[in-house]
Amino acid sequence: MDFRSEIEALSGQNTNLCFQCSKCSAGCPLGDKMDLKPAQVMHSIRLGREQAVLNSTAIWLCVGCETCSARCPQGVEPAAAINAARLMAMQQGVPPQIKEVDIYYRGFVDNMRLNGKIHDASVAGITQLLTGQLVENLPLAWKLFKRGRVKPPPLPFGGSDFRKVYRKSFEIEEGSAL
Ligand code: SF4
Ligand code: SF4
Repeated sequence: MDFRSEIEALSGQNTNLCFQCSKCSAGCPLGDKMDLKPAQVMHSIRLGREQAVLNSTAIWLCVGCETCSARCPQGVEPAAAINAARLMAMQQGVPPQIKEVDIYYRGFVDNMRLNGKIHDASVAGITQLLTGQLVENLPLAWKLFKRGRVKPPPLPFGGSDFRKVYRKSFEIEEGSAL
């Protein structure tokens, strides 16, 4: 299956419906940080520009807010197509173009695996530590803590039931035990 067909199958989108009005790009809150705007991602998918899409910052900066999809006059969902591209990049081992996102994703999964649920402050703290931004963000963390927005981390290894589900899903998806 070629790149475009695979993205369309994964996302349930028909890229031919996109007539490049760029309403999606105009509404995207991260658009000015992306190398390919949502409309350009759609166009690139249609042209089969696999490497350009999978190596773009756009697929890692997208926060899944769905504004692009809500604004599309054609009923196309760029958010779904971008999500499919991100999945494909992960499956192919294409490294994320944004270092912080890669570290955040790994921290998120490790946190989930350890606790059975996410402790936001731990994930954010580890990401900032590993990207060298911890010290500059300590004043903000302290403010949040004083307002009760930073909860203490849960005791580790509290998510045994979740870990079973997690492991099983990996076994099903990858056909092998962790
Ligand atoms: S809003 Fe819809 S039709 Fe317009 S460029 Fe974006 S995906 Fe294409
Ligand atoms: S879902 Fe992603 S691409 Fe769409 S508007 Fe939100 S951040 Fe931008």
